[in-house]
Order: sequence, then C-alpha cells, then structure tokens
Amino acid sequence: MSNPEDTHTSQKVALVTGGGQGIGAAICRRLARDGYHVVVNDLELERAEVVAADILALGGSASPAIADISDSAAVDRMFDQVEAQVGPVTALVNNAGIGGNAAIRNVTDEYWAHVLAVDLNGVLHCTRRALGPMRDNRAGSIVNISSRAWLGWWGQSAYAAAKAGVIGMTRALAVEMSSRNVRLNVVAPGLIDTPLLRNREPDALARLLKSVPIGRVGTPEEVASAVAFLSSDRSRMVTGQVLYVCGGKSVYAYPDWPDEK
Ligand code: NAP
Repeated sequence: MSNPEDTHTSQKVALVTGGGQGIGAAICRRLARDGYHVVVNDLELERAEVVAADILALGGSASPAIADISDSAAVDRMFDQVEAQVGPVTALVNNAGIGGNAAIRNVTDEYWAHVLAVDLNGVLHCTRRALGPMRDNRAGSIVNISSRAWLGWWGQSAYAAAKAGVIGMTRALAVEMSSRNVRLNVVAPGLIDTPLLRNREPDALARLLKSVPIGRVGTPEEVASAVAFLSSDRSRMVTGQVLYVCGGKSVYAYPDWPDEK
C-alpha cells in the first residue's frame, strides 16, 4: 500500500493509531483530505490496508503500519519504519483504545491491567516516541482520544481511570512541550456510532441516549472534524485542552440508570 518513492519528507505526516475502523478510520480519511500522508496503524494489517487503499483511491496519500500500541518496543519499531519511509510524524492521533463495561465486583487485576495497558500505556508509548523528532524540529501536534466517560459512568472504573490518565498526561506534557512549539490536546467523544456502540443491547442503547441532551449519537466524522481542527494551525493558540464531542453530555447527564448493573 505504501509507495515510499511517491512520498517526500516535506509532506505533513499524520499517524493515527487504531485507524483501521470506527472513529480512527474517519480521522484517517479526514486528515488525508487535509493534505497529510496518513499512516494507518492497527492491530490487523488487512484492516489498515483497506483504509489506506480507500484514501489512495480518493487521490490521497496513506500507508498501513501494524503495531500493538501496548508494546513499547513494537511502537518504537513502527515509528522507525515510518520515519525511514515518509519522514517524521508531524501529527499524532492516539485513537486506539478498548472499551469495557464491568461492575467493580468483576474488575480483576488482569482486566484492570489490560485496559490500562492499551488505553493509557499505549498513549504514553506513541507520545514519547513521537515527541523526540517533534521536540527537535520544534513543531508538532498530538491529539489524544479520551472519553466523556472519564467524568464517571456505571461499569467504567478501569476505562475512566485510563481516560482520565490520558487527560492528566496531556495537560502535563502540554506545559512541558510549550517552549518547543509542540501542542497536545484531548478530544473526548460521547456516544459515537461505531461497532463498539452497535454491539450494545437496543434497550441499553435507548437508555444511554436519554443521557445525551442533543438526543442522538454522534458520527465518527464529527469526532474527526474536532481532531482535524486541533491538529491544524487553526488551533495554534490551543494546548492542554479537552474538547468534548458528546452532544452536551459532559454538561448534563440525566441519571436514568439508578442501579448498579
Ligand atoms: P473501535 O471501533 O473498536 O476501533 C478501535 C480500533 O483500535 C480497532 O481497529 C482496534 O482493533 C484497534 N486497537 C485496539 N487495541 C489496539 C492496540 N493495542 N494497538 C493498536 N490498535 C488497537 O473503537 P472506536 O469506537 O472507534 O473508538 C476509538 C477511540 O474512541 C477509543 O479510544 C475509544 O475509547 C474512544 N471513544 C469511543 C466512543 C464510542 O462511542 N465509540 C466514545 C468515547 C470514546 P481490534 O478491533 O482488533 O481490537
């Protein structure tokens, strides 16, 4: 899918983790339209290749890159390859994540460690590696995908802890990197129409929808639009911020689920 001979180092390069489906795929397509060469990371090569092929078919530039973001050595190898093929990553989107819904009595040590390994440690691995060249080049943007759920929701203790950690890390690094012209921000989606959501029971989904003031689920493209803004120079005075894409749920969530599930 990637054709290194067609690429050149002056091009803006975006790497989107978990870009093979859902919100990540929409972010890949949007950043490609905005002129980036998009590196589509995922666990599965086939999935990343499909998204990269779509982008190429539309006249954009993209290549797939496989790595499990919870494995820091694999992440380092992926960045080494990307830099050799298309140059340093100028925009990183830490999108890959796993959901999870477990009442606290079901939160085992293994479950907790797994959710944090992907949703928090994975963000650290990619961010730390991307920041090296960004710091040296005094340019770059990182957008981390957290979740409105970090504010609290039933069955979300591990997920919310990881997503809150992402926000804390982003804010701290935004300060640390401010003198280097590298910005870090968070996009926190609410209920978004993806396979992750479609797997829910219909009545559970209907109950969840009652908690969204705007009254509908969001689209992956609406999340991608916020990411595109924060990745671009249009937001050059914005760093360390959390942008919610949740139809107002962060402002007011109707408590329609009174019992532990
Ligand atoms: P999704 O449809 O499950 O897509 C996530 C992608 O990331 C999948 O292709 C997945 O591969 C991949 N991935 C998982 N673990 C990975 C790893 N260790 N390394 C590399 N790739 C990995 O999820 P989504 O709904 O688009 O969510 C994207 C992000 O938005 C996540 O961070 C999620 O927490 C956040 N978010 C989603 C919603 C929502 O309503 N959908 C709401 C708030 C926040 P596999 O399928 O093989 O695991």
